[in-house]
Amino acid sequence: MKAITLLGSTGSIGTQTLDIVAQYPDQFRIVGLTAGRNVTLLAQQIRQFRPEIVAVCDEDKLLELKDAIAELDPQPILLAGESGVVEVAQYGDAQAVVTGIVGCAGLLPTIAAIKAGKDIALANKETLIAGGPVVNPLIEKYGVKILPADSEHSAIFQCLQGVMVGGLRRIILTASGGSFRDLPIDKLAGVTVADALKHPNWSMGQKITIDSATLMNKGLEVIEAHYLFGMDYDDIDIVIHPQSIIHSLIELQDTSVLAQLGWPDMRLPLLYALSWPERIHTDWERLDLVKAGDLTFREPDHEKYPCMQLAYAAGRAGGSMPAVLNAANEQAVALFLQEKIQFLDIPKLIEKACDKHQVDNCESPALDDILAADRWARQEVLADSMELGDRILSVR
Ligand code: NAD
Ligand code: MG
Repeated sequence: MKAITLLGSTGSIGTQTLDIVAQYPDQFRIVGLTAGRNVTLLAQQIRQFRPEIVAVCDEDKLLELKDAIAELDPQPILLAGESGVVEVAQYGDAQAVVTGIVGCAGLLPTIAAIKAGKDIALANKETLIAGGPVVNPLIEKYGVKILPADSEHSAIFQCLQGVMVGGLRRIILTASGGSFRDLPIDKLAGVTVADALKHPNWSMGQKITIDSATLMNKGLEVIEAHYLFGMDYDDIDIVIHPQSIIHSLIELQDTSVLAQLGWPDMRLPLLYALSWPERIHTDWERLDLVKAGDLTFREPDHEKYPCMQLAYAAGRAGGSMPAVLNAANEQAVALFLQEKIQFLDIPKLIEKACDKHQVDNCESPALDDILAADRWARQEVLADSMELGDRILSVR
């Protein structure tokens, strides 16, 4: 029986993780849960999984939650705010913490979990992208494992089992191409939030669905792969694979290429992150190659999707630059979701922030430098977006 804590339990990753726990009650037990604002769902989860400790985003939601589970006996420890989430992350005898929080909000709780000796089942890629220079040394210092739950990185990790150190030559990340895969470049200017949220293959939270539409998600995954597997940026490639059946590939020194295949279903990488190094038998739909049909591949279009190259550049610059890229992206995506900027403004705002940060890029940032770079980039994007707002209004 493995004890796990789940951060972001009401989201896409969170609910799929709990599906797994419900399906394998002999294998997994929930110690702690955290969520943002969806108290109704969180209360149901508490009744079903009986965690020892729970945190919500703020005091108002905490009052709502106390009301919603008043009849429960025994009561879990109930906390609020960022400090509450950090407390849950480091609490008790959980062996692994699944990070299903979205954005850099996952950084401090993840660090707390590592310092408490817990393995990390990493879905929250923003944490490693912004905090890689701080998180990686901590993983080594505290002797914990970081088990990738992002489907591409899980695929790479699965292929790497049994490959000796030094055997890996290149990583090939597959990308579905996102919502606008088949839309001509000159039509991108007018796309709406609703258009961008229609992902062809995966059902995910809003932020990552927009990241998939801009292909920033793949750019972020390049940086994630760099920090997870220690590969040079020159040896991490992207290929568009519209069917999302091959979840990524590795090339070995002798040119042999290994791939991991499966239906697009996040439960599989999540289960492997929780069961590693073992394999748990499931009754999930098995892959049928004939039914999957043609598997096709094409080169990514960097003119249509500049975010990938912005991410490569930020990754190569290193230091606090990936934190700036990530925070600028989070802020720009939030503004797009609020319909305050247009789709094509997203890469422009990110590029501007990264350009400005070049002079201040901190080569070996400490946690405070990363948090400061994150705050600075968000403010920059907000300020720059005001100018765009004026432009949009004057055009109307
Ligand atoms: P989501 O929006 O569906 O869920 C996010 C969860 O985090 C919710 O429970 C929300 O309440 C909570 N949350 C959000 N902001 C918070 C804050 N400031 N403090 C505390 N809790 C907060 O997102 P998701 O799609 O599940 O994605 C979660 C993470 O997993 C992201 O980093 C994403 O990139 C990564 N990921 C997701 C998928 C997927 O299939 N959804 C695949 C690969 C990677
Ligand atoms: Mg992914």
